[in-house]
Amino acid sequence: MSAFCEGALFSVLPMGGIIFDIKRFSVHDGPGIRTTVFFKGCPLRCQWCHNPESQRVRRELMVWRERCIGCGACVSLCEQGVAVPDRVRGEGCILCGQCVDGCYAEARQMVGREMSVQEVMAEVERDIAFYDESGGGVTFSGGEPLLQPTFLYALLQACQAKEIHTAVDTCGWADWAVLDCVRPHVDLFLYDLKLIDEVAHRRWTGRSNDRILDNLRRLSAFGQRIILRVAIVPTINDDAQSVRQIGSFAAKLPGLERVDLLPYHRAGAEKYTRLARDFSLPGIRPPTKEKMAEIARVFTALGLQVKVGG
Ligand code: SF4
Ligand code: SF4
Repeated sequence: MSAFCEGALFSVLPMGGIIFDIKRFSVHDGPGIRTTVFFKGCPLRCQWCHNPESQRVRRELMVWRERCIGCGACVSLCEQGVAVPDRVRGEGCILCGQCVDGCYAEARQMVGREMSVQEVMAEVERDIAFYDESGGGVTFSGGEPLLQPTFLYALLQACQAKEIHTAVDTCGWADWAVLDCVRPHVDLFLYDLKLIDEVAHRRWTGRSNDRILDNLRRLSAFGQRIILRVAIVPTINDDAQSVRQIGSFAAKLPGLERVDLLPYHRAGAEKYTRLARDFSLPGIRPPTKEKMAEIARVFTALGLQVKVGG
């Protein structure tokens, strides 16, 4: 371990972090049968994000308007006087959760909960037999797991102690020092790449891609196992130039295992309404199978292993 990792950042491991879901028996987040742990909080704001509830680090209230039976319990229970039955009203809400507990129709949900390393591991360890049989393990996803580095580090160490295969699904926007500390404990990186053009990247995700590309080059140079994941979003990165730029960049990464091309889908659009946020890409439709096949051919011609879908 480097001196940095032994220093302040990782010398005191946290008791826990904030996650928004744990999904068992996942088959799309790495090899075999896996448990996927979703960290809450992400430094990017991709406008096509299908998990908008993952973006903010703090807890959030979600309301399913169609489930509301209009009983008014939430209004009576809210001591702040800010609850409204059929939607989230962010102003004045202290996220106490009283209205959630009192909603028998389950129209309200608090997204995000603090969990200790031990609590997460108790969930993860339930399926060790399935991981062993299928060549699976645990995947830390999000949001962005590297945004809670000490929590992630502690979980990776705990998994390694139990000989559980570890994957980290990351957008790559992190200090290299953090990645350098965690990488010895990561068996596989699922590394998301959106765009090579810096201006376009900033426009559609809210951040420059400088450190994302730099971190990817460095991980690859260290010989880490990496599967690149590219969400294909029509009108944003499915044009010939964007595809060629991503493919050419990927082809220069030594030892890159594969590129997964993930067709954009609209499954998350409704979540924006439940969070009282605007979805900025309402008119974009998923790419056709033909378009995905065409993009896959470009990548294959560059010598890359390609899979369409996760
Ligand atoms: S408690 Fe639930 S069902 Fe009742 S009004 Fe509030 S949101 Fe609707
Ligand atoms: S979470 Fe608490 S403060 Fe927010 S609306 Fe519900 S009861 Fe009111």
